[in-house]
Amino acid sequence: MSIVRVALDVPLPKLFDYLAEGAGRADIGRRVIVPFGQRRQVGLIVELAQASEVPAAQLKAVIAIDRDLPPMPAEWLKLARFAATYYQHPLGATLLSLLPPALKRLRPPRAEAPTAYVLTAAGLAHIPEINPRAKAQRQLAERLQQGPLPVSEAGPWRGQLRLWHRTGWVEAAETMPASPATPSAKPELTPDQAAALAAVRAAPAGFAAWLLHGVTGSGKTEVYLRLIEEALAAGRQALVLVPEIHLTPQTEAAFRNRFPSARQISLHSGLADGERLRVWRACLDGRVDLVLGTRLAVFTPLNRLGLIVVDEEHDASYKQQEGLRYSARDVAVWRARQLDIPIVLGSATPALETWRNAARGRYRRLELSARAHAEAVLPAVKLIDTRVDRPRLGLSASLIRALQDRLARGEQSLLFINRRGYAPTLYCNACGYVVPCPRCSAHQVLHRKGEKFELRCHHCGLLTRPPEVCPDCGSPDLRPAGQGTQRLEETLATQFPEARILRIDRDTASRRGAFAAMREAVNARAVDILVGTQIVTKGHDFPHLTLVGVLGADQALLSPDFRATERLFAQLMQVAGRAGRAGRPGEVLVQTGYPGHPLYRALQAHDFARFAAQMLKERREMEFPPFSHQALLRAEAERIDVALAFLDKAKQAGLALARQHGVSLFDPTPALLARVARRERAQLLVQAGSRGHLQDFLGPWLEAVRGLPARTLKWSIDVDPLDF
Ligand code: ADP
Ligand code: ZN
Ligand code: ZN
Repeated sequence: MSIVRVALDVPLPKLFDYLAEGAGRADIGRRVIVPFGQRRQVGLIVELAQASEVPAAQLKAVIAIDRDLPPMPAEWLKLARFAATYYQHPLGATLLSLLPPALKRLRPPRAEAPTAYVLTAAGLAHIPEINPRAKAQRQLAERLQQGPLPVSEAGPWRGQLRLWHRTGWVEAAETMPASPATPSAKPELTPDQAAALAAVRAAPAGFAAWLLHGVTGSGKTEVYLRLIEEALAAGRQALVLVPEIHLTPQTEAAFRNRFPSARQISLHSGLADGERLRVWRACLDGRVDLVLGTRLAVFTPLNRLGLIVVDEEHDASYKQQEGLRYSARDVAVWRARQLDIPIVLGSATPALETWRNAARGRYRRLELSARAHAEAVLPAVKLIDTRVDRPRLGLSASLIRALQDRLARGEQSLLFINRRGYAPTLYCNACGYVVPCPRCSAHQVLHRKGEKFELRCHHCGLLTRPPEVCPDCGSPDLRPAGQGTQRLEETLATQFPEARILRIDRDTASRRGAFAAMREAVNARAVDILVGTQIVTKGHDFPHLTLVGVLGADQALLSPDFRATERLFAQLMQVAGRAGRAGRPGEVLVQTGYPGHPLYRALQAHDFARFAAQMLKERREMEFPPFSHQALLRAEAERIDVALAFLDKAKQAGLALARQHGVSLFDPTPALLARVARRERAQLLVQAGSRGHLQDFLGPWLEAVRGLPARTLKWSIDVDPLDF
């Protein structure tokens, strides 16, 4: 009788043994259903065993091994094991969290959702008969005649397609079929691009990590495309990771147009379970050439992977903030090394960790120093000193003049403010009271909803009506304090009644298709002034935009989070890159009370290297990453003293080990945001000079921590944390 070791989604870092008649090596990596306690659970077979420590009489037998699906490949299991070990997450919980959700169910649904729709001969014959006034139908027909319609773009026609499918006018395709279309034309490479490609090609085959550093608009994408082209031509697969917000139908289409004969899939958490399963299945079967995805795509099972690209490698969305708290960028580098293939990390503002890796020669740096379009020049960045030119309702006189100029010339402007809602707070003008969230250690944010106002907590989601009078002193003189996107939009409408204004933040962009509509409106010049949070700054090309105004950026300079300035700089570089793309010189005006700040100076010079050098110097002095390696033990409980006491016990339990490994354990402290949804949060920082020392310490330490009583609290470990 064979014994299988099974990974289960339980919070214990161990595997479970089961009897499995007839199980063999070919079952490693297969899904299995086993009895666990009173219930059945889905697990994954990770190993075979000769004997078990569990007495034979107590060993239970598996209920069923799922042999419908190919087993997860050995490379995938190895990757998952690495992630579990490195991020100190139980192996079973890790493995199961990496499977598509449908495979965690006892009875997984059939993977039948199609990837794309293709017009049939009958469909083609039917087109002339479509009623000319049936606009949606005609649009659908037109679209299908251009080639396969991926499900991700089929949203507006969903009902129609179901009907056409039933009638036999369209066929569902399993993977994105090769299209007869000719690939979109390749531009002539710029000298920088050519040099970057030559360097990559000249390198010996095998693992190499490349940092592709280039300002916004320098044409990093073209470099990726050429490398992908070569990988595909060699019969290998390419994996392209993009930040969450970048995975748009436009991005997908751009890749598809360039590689029409490649079988391409997109993978992100927004996919329906059935779709995700189908995509996964196609990968397991090797029926995929090109994977485009967000962070979770780094764990796609691929058997011919030849190249990994991580675009905007500094982006915070690569870090998973719950469960297995992994960094997709770091896992990608590990995977590339494991597979002995090249990886390209691209960014205009690389993470300081990455920048230092390049400086130390671990990564090789490729520079794209000029913008790809010959006429596109970098915008002039000017600072508006708000101590002199005091803003009224957020807008300084200089900024208003600049906006006026653009309106007069028929050019577009973008105002960037990283605050959604109407105003960050509602306060009492008589006594200074600010309305707090009753459940969090944060203020509620004032939002406008039609004619009414409401208070929302951006941390726990609590929604309340604003009080009529001050809860503290009874004064009716309650006022909004500060600016949010909604209020700015209102102010602009009063200031420029003739201007067409469009606001873009999470509240307006959450609807499906909102982004596409926005882009269209902006490109059709149906918008004069855009108001938005950081989501507008990402990856959009606005050819008629010549002015970017930045409001409220100083706030990040005052943040206690040591990464806040790094993030601000990346955002400002990104937003500045929106101006002046198609030959029109752009201008960026930053309102600040600290015009001498080195961050703004470096921004004016478009000089990331200078900024990075300053930051690294500070980090070195403070012994912050990348000059040290950190882990954060977090605890949350109803009372802060409970959380702190637990962390203190954890600290005591680790002191001797820490000394032995040369690791520092700091004192437990309340988190920066100490209370969220009535839970008090505390944390304990662990810091070491080297990754190895930190890893050596964490394993045995956490084993001890697991033994501590923790009935009334929840704790977790975050290795290489980004948020404090
Ligand atoms: P990045 O990703 O570095 O911000 P993009 O890849 O978006 O830059 O390129 C910016 C613009 O330049 C795009 O419109 C792109 O089509 C164009 N572009 C890129 N490479 C070339 C080239 N070699 N010749 C002409 N245009 C190019
Ligand atoms: Zn008051
Ligand atoms: Zn709250």
